[in-house]
Amino acid sequence: MDWKRNYHTHTDFCDGQNTPEEMAEAAAKKGFTALGFSGHSYTDFDTFYCMTPETFPEYCRQVRALREKYEGQMEILLGVERDFYSDLDCRDLDYSIGSVHYIRWEGEYIPVDESEEVVRKTIEKFGNDPYAYAETYFDTVARVVEQTGCDFIGHFDLIKKFNRNGTVLVDEHHPRYVTAWKKALERLVPQGRPFEINITPLSWREDGECYPSREILKEICRLGGRITISSDAHSVDHLNRGFDQALAIAKEAGFRTVTVFHGGGVTEEIPIE
Ligand SMILES: [Zn+2]
Ligand SMILES: [Zn+2]
Repeated sequence: MDWKRNYHTHTDFCDGQNTPEEMAEAAAKKGFTALGFSGHSYTDFDTFYCMTPETFPEYCRQVRALREKYEGQMEILLGVERDFYSDLDCRDLDYSIGSVHYIRWEGEYIPVDESEEVVRKTIEKFGNDPYAYAETYFDTVARVVEQTGCDFIGHFDLIKKFNRNGTVLVDEHHPRYVTAWKKALERLVPQGRPFEINITPLSWREDGECYPSREILKEICRLGGRITISSDAHSVDHLNRGFDQALAIAKEAGFRTVTVFHGGGVTEEIPIE
């Protein structure tokens, strides 16, 4: 199955490398039928990677212009990747991704995806209990739909980013880790928003896991949840990487369809061939 859509796309308005125009042009060349832009929404406590109140209107203007340019050829959607701790008004956008990139701990916003060193220091702050850290992370993720009103859930288990083979920083099969993500799923799945299969870990995980891991995907499927697939592209080269693996993983986990988005809360289920 040739997957020709992506709804998790970054540009040079945030931490991506290419302009919206370059991303759209590359997607059109690859024969995409839909491209959703999802620049990082503003977080005032960390401005390095995100759009700002000053740059956001121009991002919206450029993406809307591309929507007109490609009308009838490729569906362009204007969205954001909304961090849990960003308070952006998303009403005028076509969709948003709800993502947890930080935990709030003792008055601080601590990134979970910055570096292995930051994660090690964070675990120290949790009294060297990596499971207490994981519980705080998944407790936050559990509330991401309520907090952001998102259309789909970004990289559900981002906390494992530097956990190269599943055991370096935290044992992903430890009962406390498993209980933490299961509790989050119990709250999120009934809310009906799809979870993305985000393929970015494929390039460094030794066990070929994506976000979420296979075991988590099977549980989402068992509970009746939905999925979409994302390349989380930060450059034109990465627009459609990993889609074949993502579809194979989805199928193996038991899913029969993948959700696609048309803006304004309208979704469609595409059967996995
Ligand atoms: Zn993200
Ligand atoms: Zn992203």
